[in-house]
Amino acid sequence: MTALHPRLVSVYDEVTQRNPGESEFHQAVREVFETLSPVVVKHPEYADAQVLQRLCEPERQIIFRVPWVDDAGRVQVNRGFRVEFSSVLGPYKGGLRFHPNVYAGTVKFLGFEQIFKNSLTGMPLGGGKGGSDFDPKGRSDGEVMRFCQSFMTELHRHIGEYTDVPAGDTGVGARELGFLFGQYKRLTNRYESGVLTGKGLTWGGSQVRTEATGFGAVYFVQSMLALSQRDLEGQRVVVSGSGNVAIHAAQKAQELGAVVVACSDSGGYVVDEAGLDIDLLKDIKNVRRGRMSDYARERGLDHISAGSVWDVHCDVAIPCATQNELGEREARALVAGGVSVVAEGANMPCTPDAVRVFRDAGVAFAPGKAANAGGVVTSSLEMQQNASRDSWTFAHTDERLRSTMTEIHDRCLSTADDYDVPGDYVAGANIAGFTRVADAMLAFGVI
Ligand code: GLU
Repeated sequence: MTALHPRLVSVYDEVTQRNPGESEFHQAVREVFETLSPVVVKHPEYADAQVLQRLCEPERQIIFRVPWVDDAGRVQVNRGFRVEFSSVLGPYKGGLRFHPNVYAGTVKFLGFEQIFKNSLTGMPLGGGKGGSDFDPKGRSDGEVMRFCQSFMTELHRHIGEYTDVPAGDTGVGARELGFLFGQYKRLTNRYESGVLTGKGLTWGGSQVRTEATGFGAVYFVQSMLALSQRDLEGQRVVVSGSGNVAIHAAQKAQELGAVVVACSDSGGYVVDEAGLDIDLLKDIKNVRRGRMSDYARERGLDHISAGSVWDVHCDVAIPCATQNELGEREARALVAGGVSVVAEGANMPCTPDAVRVFRDAGVAFAPGKAANAGGVVTSSLEMQQNASRDSWTFAHTDERLRSTMTEIHDRCLSTADDYDVPGDYVAGANIAGFTRVADAMLAFGVI
């Protein structure tokens, strides 16, 4: 572990004591703090005003019961969360995650990261996150609808176009957002498009929002490669996961000439040397709600459940599955296989040990706060369209996404230069994200 600046040690200790057992949240805070020493030295006014103490304590946390009735007529009870972390730059903004392992620590780590990610985009967005331990896997559409309606029956009191604007995340896609928006509209008697992003195209959604996180990650990789006069043409790429982010990262990488040779799900992975068949993947995952084992069978390939997808050698790795999926062992396997660029499509998929392995091996590493910001960038573009009752073309929206990802890339590197850590995307992203929030907090006084 990198040592913390003395002014940050007590703040970090307070975070771990105040939030016992929330290891992912501790990890996310530590990762940011480890990069902030040069900021503390250059700007003692931030520590004097207890900016970090304040940022680590969410402005508001809501935990609620979500009762619903399953298809067999049994009453089920889940837990719902919304952690409203920071609204200094705009309304709280961040997705909802439905997954059985969601607990307070998951939502807090995601919400904390979202503050800096959203700030780094340069857009007017605060940070928050929410979700539930509900598992949509294997549930009928009717069960998902009843769960979403119950979830929104409580959540609607806390959100709004100018207050808190949720979106999707793992387990929350177009189907869930439709049920959530429908219930919000019914409860409030308002067609308030700006209250949620990731909406369907016929009811206030934006072009490119579905593709945005995956496309954005690949645009970021393009900028990383361009620094050494390379592009994606002919690069061998591996993505992990096979959800929305992974599929669209693979699609864009292949459109730009790469060969994406592997992807995975929680059951194992598939190596497809010819390059992934994106249409088949979309059909299996989005239409049939099937598994990678179905993909393997239909393509006549092996479905591998031993080891991990990171055993497949590649030039570019884009982890798009979930937090802490890529540890030290996997990082060493990637380095041995010749990887030169790693960009996080998911939130915190690489453990601190893995990041150290990449750094020691001279692998260019982009953290999720920067590389996966395309989703929230396009959410902000969706909010702009909703506010002006306009809708933009695919090409225009995609170009806005691409240029914003390039700006984020350049902002990371120029900030890293300013603070004497050249080439360090992690420090650049954290410092640029943090200083924008901290300056606004100083301007607002103690709130
Ligand atoms: N869940 C996405 C993220 O992790 C998108 C959030 C949003 O669009 O508000 O950034």
